[in-house]
Amino acid sequence: MDGDLAPLGQLAASAQRHDAVLIVDDAHGFGILGQGGRGIADHYSLGSHELPLLIGTLGKAFGTAGAFVAGSRILIDYLIQFARTYIYTTAMPPAIAAASLVSLQLSETEDWRRQHLRQLIKQFRAEAQALGYTLMPSETAIQPILIGDSRQAMRLSAALQARGIAISAIRPPTVPEGSARLRVTLSAGHSEDDLARLIEALAAERPLLAGARTETGARNE
Ligand SMILES: *Cc1c(COP(=O)(O)O)cnc(C)c1O
Repeated sequence: MDGDLAPLGQLAASAQRHDAVLIVDDAHGFGILGQGGRGIADHYSLGSHELPLLIGTLGKAFGTAGAFVAGSRILIDYLIQFARTYIYTTAMPPAIAAASLVSLQLSETEDWRRQHLRQLIKQFRAEAQALGYTLMPSETAIQPILIGDSRQAMRLSAALQARGIAISAIRPPTVPEGSARLRVTLSAGHSEDDLARLIEALAAERPLLAGARTETGARNE
């Protein structure tokens, strides 16, 4: 919800200290973070010793469907034998598997897509903040605009929708009380023009937030 990155190195060390199993679900990092889009493990240079159980999904950056679990042989054998959700689910259709392989190839070879995304993120942050919007400390594709009040968040979301821009308002209890937000999700599929249109709409609708807590510190944990 915040676009932030878990401090995985510290979590892994803590799990090892306490003999606990750390399960990492990298649904949003896979394809986006790290060399060749290898995900958060690569971003933090962590290996299978620190992250014995890594999950990635194919429905986000990969644009297909399905998911994988990476782990030791014995762990994977265990899941194949005992994970009922796996056993009783139809296997991935061959067409989806083929499309996922193409996605993998694109992810490994077309770093310009990630560069473009990083550029959009940088530009969005600078321009939205210049308009007086409060963003969260996120360096990733998820860039929440902190509004605070749920009704104001709904109103701004509806105003953007009327301008052809789909950004949903996220309200409590999904996020803490008083920290309603619009969840902007940037993608490598967005163009510079798309971003310009979003910024223009945010500028035009900024008066909707008159009196809202949009300046500082509206985040409560
Ligand atoms: C989207 C998401 C999933 C599920 O992805 P599916 O495409 O439904 O498999 C799992 N975990 C996290 C953190 C996600 O964001």
